[in-house]
Amino acid sequence: MDGLKYTARKEGQADTCFMVGNLCIGRDFLLIAGPCSVESEAQILEAAKWVKASGANVLRGGTFKPRMSPYSFQGLGREGLLMLEKAGKEFDLPVITEVTDPRDVEFVAKHADFIQIGARNMQNFSLLEEVGKAKKPVLLKRGMAATLEEFLNSAEYILSSNNFQVILCERGIRTFEPYTRNTLDLSAVPVLKALTHLPIIVDPSHATGHRELVLPMSLAAVAAGCDGLEIEMHPAPEKALSDAEQQLTGEELIKLAEKVKKAVEFRRNL
Ligand code: PEP
Ligand code: MN
Repeated sequence: MDGLKYTARKEGQADTCFMVGNLCIGRDFLLIAGPCSVESEAQILEAAKWVKASGANVLRGGTFKPRMSPYSFQGLGREGLLMLEKAGKEFDLPVITEVTDPRDVEFVAKHADFIQIGARNMQNFSLLEEVGKAKKPVLLKRGMAATLEEFLNSAEYILSSNNFQVILCERGIRTFEPYTRNTLDLSAVPVLKALTHLPIIVDPSHATGHRELVLPMSLAAVAAGCDGLEIEMHPAPEKALSDAEQQLTGEELIKLAEKVKKAVEFRRNL
């Protein structure tokens, strides 16, 4: 793959690691959990309580939601991000949220610890350049129809804008199989590990779209060598305003976190 000036792993180059608070991304296993959307202050505080109890180390919550239909819940916008920030502070968890508009990047960088670029915006190059200028770690999700070369080139936009704190996220790609929401491309993990020095995490929630598939695919992702996971969890999934079928309950998140921890230890001792 040509033209990957900053993202390609040079011969013998070590994995990229960087600190966010006490967390060493790329070395400590990153477990991001929280609701698809921030829906109210009470909801995100309750979610944060479960996330903290599970031992996950980052709280997620969408406030600018890229929905297929313009009539679906669009998120609480900037107000929602302030709720997420408050919940993160209350439970001592760094927070991550998606940004969809270059005009919101500065605000998101001010109130969140990580900026997420969603699958639908992986090739929104002006947005990539804008987050490249922000001095905040970026979680870049793979587009649902993007090749790994396209994915790495999108990361290259951010690094070449002088932001080297980039985490890649495999979240499934669109195939002919309709049972799952997407098809989780687990081979992307070892392939990307070879091609780049950047940390790679997996999102089994959006990849599968089904709550009961999140745990098995999380364990499979750990076995494949990922540096972390992003998991959707809601205090009352059946009432969620978005992605109700794939969000775990708090109890399910706790069980998942216990098993993932054991799987990570097992992998490290292999
Ligand atoms: C999300 O993580 O909130 C999300 C919308 O995921 P994706 O961009 O992978 O669809
Ligand atoms: Mn979601």
